[in-house]
Amino acid sequence: MADIQLAKSPSSPLSSGVAFQQCINPLCRATLDIGQVRTACDRCGDLLDIQYDWSQIEVPNRMSDFEQMWTKRYEPLRFSGVWRFHELIQFAPADKVVTVGEGQTLLQQANEVAKFVGQNEGNLYLQYEGMNPSGSFKDNGMCAAFTHAHMTGAKRAACASTGNTSASLAMYSSVTRLMKAIIFIGSGKISYGKLSQALEYGALTIQLAGDFDDAMIRVKEVSQSLGIYLVNSINPFRIEGQKSVMFRVLEALRWEVPDWIVVPGGNLGNSSAFGKAFQELKLLGLIDRIPRLAVINAAGADTLHQLYERRGLRWQDGQPNNTLISDYYAELDHRKAKADTIASAIEINRPVNLKKCLRALDACDGVVRKVTDQEILDAKAQVGAGGIGCEPASAASVAGAKLLRAEGVIAPSDRVVCILTGHQLKDPTATVAYHTTDQEQFNNVLGSRGVSRASFANRAVAVPNDLDAIMRAIQLYS
Ligand SMILES: *Cc1c(COP(=O)(O)O)cnc(C)c1O
Ligand SMILES: [Zn+2]
Repeated sequence: MADIQLAKSPSSPLSSGVAFQQCINPLCRATLDIGQVRTACDRCGDLLDIQYDWSQIEVPNRMSDFEQMWTKRYEPLRFSGVWRFHELIQFAPADKVVTVGEGQTLLQQANEVAKFVGQNEGNLYLQYEGMNPSGSFKDNGMCAAFTHAHMTGAKRAACASTGNTSASLAMYSSVTRLMKAIIFIGSGKISYGKLSQALEYGALTIQLAGDFDDAMIRVKEVSQSLGIYLVNSINPFRIEGQKSVMFRVLEALRWEVPDWIVVPGGNLGNSSAFGKAFQELKLLGLIDRIPRLAVINAAGADTLHQLYERRGLRWQDGQPNNTLISDYYAELDHRKAKADTIASAIEINRPVNLKKCLRALDACDGVVRKVTDQEILDAKAQVGAGGIGCEPASAASVAGAKLLRAEGVIAPSDRVVCILTGHQLKDPTATVAYHTTDQEQFNNVLGSRGVSRASFANRAVAVPNDLDAIMRAIQLYS
């Protein structure tokens, strides 16, 4: 708990003076006005957090008080599934807040998936963040970063993206007309579902000959040189918005804290946000315990797993062993290793929020696991069979829960919430290839990644254009 403090804030012309930016490094703790635009600490280069002077904020006494906010749905600040928790995400004046109705998402008890994972009936929940307006959880954070960009008068905003961040930014830009979106994508990897959104919403789309990690480096350089507002999850305001995913999970559980939150790990913004949310709620006395956190990497992009589980990297009160990190990255460079997984949204080898995630793992007694593309796709098919499907990266959470159950780390009686980060329609190529009868299509899309079987395929039945044959097939299979 040491790192989230009841601190005095510097006064700000843009806020009520209760929020400020602060370096996460406890030896530095440099603070910045809320109206400043930075992606890192000026003094030491570490990540920035948004902090609050809670003594100046009127926070509800109980989490259940937030339920009353629903009665004010005519107010945009209460309609949004993010901003109706405004008291816990309080950095913007009400008239600057941007919302397009994000965060109207569902927590569903999923008993078929529970069986697949090995949980007792009633103990496995799926938090469907694919129901957001742009189809992924990114809208939770983007509305917050976009709000801050608007507060500071930005006219252009940029991001590097594996797809969903750019879809979200492009959507906020085109709906609000407040600024121009500029997106950087690596060549060849982005799924058509996501690319189609950015293009149709009118974002300036820079397709770079390189991968996500390359695009990330370039977008930082360009934003700095041209004074463009950067909305990648290195942006601390995104993390604030993403805290609301956990507020809604608690709300759906009638404010009972679950035993486990399981989330896919890419740039580690979500896991960082979840940890910060629980630390703050605990500090404010709004919850009595913090759930355990499981962050799930894809086996082809497993930096966090390598560093945390294999090499013992820990938060260590804000002094993680930087040599472990730089040695590992040097090894990746030496091997010319590139992240490679069907779960393109988590195909990232240099997660920008690594240190914040270490802090979250520390606060939440966390574990990290990695799962193969085979495990991801089988889990995805099980989720989809329940009706509200997800994209491959999302299913890493369910595959990870299954693995942790098999290891005995998660007990069958534990209450487990898996976060489904993105909508099924984001990446239809992977889904159709999984269910196809066309071996060549299967091999082209999935076989090249070591996926050898589609354990839960629902194959189309080919029939001649003949009434009797069609009816025979239907009788046979239904
Ligand atoms: C961005 C994204 C992730 C990764 O989330 P991080 O916060 O970067 O770890 C996972 N799944 C989907 C669908 C995403 O869009
Ligand atoms: Zn610093």
